[in-house]
Amino acid sequence: MQRNILTGSILALLTARAAAPQSPQVPTAIASIRQADLERDMYALAGDNMRGREAGTLDEMRASAWLAEQMRKIGVSPKGEDGGWYQWWNMRRTRVSSTTSSIKLGDRAFGLWTDITPTSNVAAEVTAPTVFVSNLNDSTFDVRGKVAVIRLAPPASSAIRTTTNTYEHNYTRAALIPMAALGRWGALAVVVVADSIAELAVEAVARTQMRGTYDVVGGVPRFTRNPAAARAANVRPPVPVLLVHRGALSDWKTDGQTVTIELRTETFETPSVNVIGEVRGTDARLRDEYVVFSSHQDHDGVRYPVNGDSIWNGADDNASTSVALLAIARAWVKQPSKRSALFIFHGAEERGLLGSRYHVAHPVVPLDRIVAVLNGDMIGRNHPDTAALLGSQPPHRNSAALVQMALEANGATGRFVIDSLWDRPTHPEGWYFRSDHVPYAERSVPSLFFSTNLHPDYHTPRDEPKNINYPKLTRMTQWMYMTGWIAGNATTRPPVDAGFVLR
Ligand SMILES: [Zn+2]
Repeated sequence: MQRNILTGSILALLTARAAAPQSPQVPTAIASIRQADLERDMYALAGDNMRGREAGTLDEMRASAWLAEQMRKIGVSPKGEDGGWYQWWNMRRTRVSSTTSSIKLGDRAFGLWTDITPTSNVAAEVTAPTVFVSNLNDSTFDVRGKVAVIRLAPPASSAIRTTTNTYEHNYTRAALIPMAALGRWGALAVVVVADSIAELAVEAVARTQMRGTYDVVGGVPRFTRNPAAARAANVRPPVPVLLVHRGALSDWKTDGQTVTIELRTETFETPSVNVIGEVRGTDARLRDEYVVFSSHQDHDGVRYPVNGDSIWNGADDNASTSVALLAIARAWVKQPSKRSALFIFHGAEERGLLGSRYHVAHPVVPLDRIVAVLNGDMIGRNHPDTAALLGSQPPHRNSAALVQMALEANGATGRFVIDSLWDRPTHPEGWYFRSDHVPYAERSVPSLFFSTNLHPDYHTPRDEPKNINYPKLTRMTQWMYMTGWIAGNATTRPPVDAGFVLR
């Protein structure tokens, strides 16, 4: 599917390039953006010793401190709170409690996350007999008031996600969805026995699920644009759906056994952080307006191993843009624009755009002084000459003038064929809505999202520094830099399109 999309998009963009405007003057400071620096910084930030930079852990803190230290060395000024580099805030995390939850079959206790895995964050107290349901589509089974036991059935292949995690994990997740029907038919809990494919993913589901869900204290809501989507995202299965190993079928199959389920959830807060630096503008009239270069420093941390590697490095996602921001800062301190530039590394993007949702609610400069947010996420992979510019076409475009600046910058630097399909509202990945520019765009700050899109290593331990295309990353960095340079020096700031509402 991805190959088809790419072919189609190249065609779509050849037309767009024909209308590309003339090249503006590229400042000499662009020479400070060096491939060797990007590569060195990438191996530092996405190397195994950063342990995947998981949000809310010391690993994210270590990466954040490293970024602040690089900015200090480059000559950027701190623009966080209290004169420092950091803007602190709390993640609110909700998960099934491992210490106060228990599940028993008869007198036999099962190990939570090892023998049996809750597949959602649902609290429950159930004591009920089992009933084995041999076929989900057979409505003659009476599951009311019982714990339904069922074998996992293969999902439709179209329901299996392909762009993240492993095939077995995605297969299992897709297969679990229809099982919630048993709860609607009156079962108090559902025990799903893995098949041979899901058996390979039991540990992965447990390791993902035990993390729970995340929110940001004091941030803007995630789904401002679409309350219906918010309600859908918050719908929890009404009963626990529990995954057990394939070999446990014989234990669970007999009807009438007593199951005792005590599942309790716990909520707690842990700190995460945005790292913010500034290069002041040169023009006394314009320097209180800001161009924002935006990235996120977190990734998925240390998780279950894939081919023996348990560190999810997040080289493309999103060390790529983070090191790009450092390179842009090197050029910017040499030759600042008339307007000021902010370099913002948002924490906990992977947990639901938490850092940008916090900063938009507590911006270090007034939001209406930000003339452009240039956000990048995953800018170092795929075909060397294609890239996406999300927010460049309706309904996502919120400033035609800023898009024009980015196209001019592309003509002068990166010269990418722009893949326009990923910015369409019909694109199956909904890619536009999956990074830190969204909370800004929703509040009518002119915003763009630079990306080289998904690839098979996305959110796996294979997203490593050695798989980055460094010449391409260098060109993407130059493109973001040049877009900011044009916006930072334009006589008039790029206006928001009349009547823009993000949807
Ligand atoms: Zn990302």
